[in-house]
Amino acid sequence: MNWNMINKLPTPSYLLLEEQLVANGEVLQTLQRQTGCKVLLAQKAFSAYDLYPLLEPYLAGTEASGLYEARLGHEEMPSKECHVFCGAYKEEEFDELLTYADHIVFNTPYQLKLFGPRAKAAGKEIGLRINPECSTQSHGIYDPCSAGSRLGTTIEQWYQEMTPEAIALLDGVHFHTLCEQGAEDFATTLQAVEAKFGQYLSHLKWLNCGGGHYITHKDYNLGLLAKLLIAWRDRYGLQMYLEPGEAVVLNAGYLLTTVLDLTINGDYKIGILDCSGACHMPDVIEMPYTPPLVNAKRPGEALYTYRLGSQTCLAGDVIGEYSFDHELKRGERLAFADMALYTMCKNNTFNGMPLPSIYVLRLDGSVSLIKKFSYDDFKYRLGTKLKVR
Ligand SMILES: *Cc1c(COP(=O)(O)O)cnc(C)c1O
Repeated sequence: MNWNMINKLPTPSYLLLEEQLVANGEVLQTLQRQTGCKVLLAQKAFSAYDLYPLLEPYLAGTEASGLYEARLGHEEMPSKECHVFCGAYKEEEFDELLTYADHIVFNTPYQLKLFGPRAKAAGKEIGLRINPECSTQSHGIYDPCSAGSRLGTTIEQWYQEMTPEAIALLDGVHFHTLCEQGAEDFATTLQAVEAKFGQYLSHLKWLNCGGGHYITHKDYNLGLLAKLLIAWRDRYGLQMYLEPGEAVVLNAGYLLTTVLDLTINGDYKIGILDCSGACHMPDVIEMPYTPPLVNAKRPGEALYTYRLGSQTCLAGDVIGEYSFDHELKRGERLAFADMALYTMCKNNTFNGMPLPSIYVLRLDGSVSLIKKFSYDDFKYRLGTKLKVR
């Protein structure tokens, strides 16, 4: 990594890493070749479509959360499959959705019965999202199997509402229950799917096993994943799908920032940065988690520990505590790692914070700017385009 060059880029900026995207893509491609499964990019994690041509050879297509993402996948990866799952579709957008999507997955039997026949007549593959009610994680807001979840149809609801006509509409079923999890939790989930919905599976063409598979993580058990995918393909005659977001772009970006000021409160040494958790990496606050920071250690491990936060006025806009071998200086550059996922597509201009520029470190070592934002992006999203002073 040529940090001399990177440290000349303005901050705050994202720097996406083509080399890592290709490395992730190769892992996914090998898996698809070994198992016959198809892997889609979940665009809600990453929609920087300038990079879609680079990713496209390694993917079977895109997955969308609704009309806009389906359109984006259709426009920017047009030669590949376009899948959509949405918590509820709207009448006024459904015909347009049919022009983009190849697979349409419904959340409830009601929506399946309402829109399914029209989608079928348009030649689409139809699915229903099921809820296997098998929690394997502790991140409450990312657990679609938590009590009272609105995501997916439970077996109890299936028995009550899935008429033979509704079942006959189905080409496949879909579940999404994981978040940053291993193949072991996938195995547990598959057991729950089989115990509850097993009797319906052999009548279907495909099974979409959602995202949250940490496939490209260094500790991931790829052998177990491949074994499970092959076993289910063979046992039920299913085309298996995975739709990771995170795993496609894992470790493929930095958020570059500058230490603007240093302050102190009691025992805390504090660094104030020109980036924001709330605006530029909202998962840090929502999940929450502490993102990796290049050349920093956990608090207390090195000599100087700092709490790093944003220049915003939100008291909770703290990114985390880190320690360094040296005292931080005003003007010093820092780089948060693993910043390609759930960042750019979740950004906002709360507090009038600028949106970070998006740069790409190309395979040949050069850096190019793909997007730069300005005051206009903050102002004119909320009002008329008239430039009156
Ligand atoms: C969020 C989501 C994904 C992607 O999840 P990752 O954790 O980024 O892999 C895939 N499918 C559905 C339905 C989702 O909601």
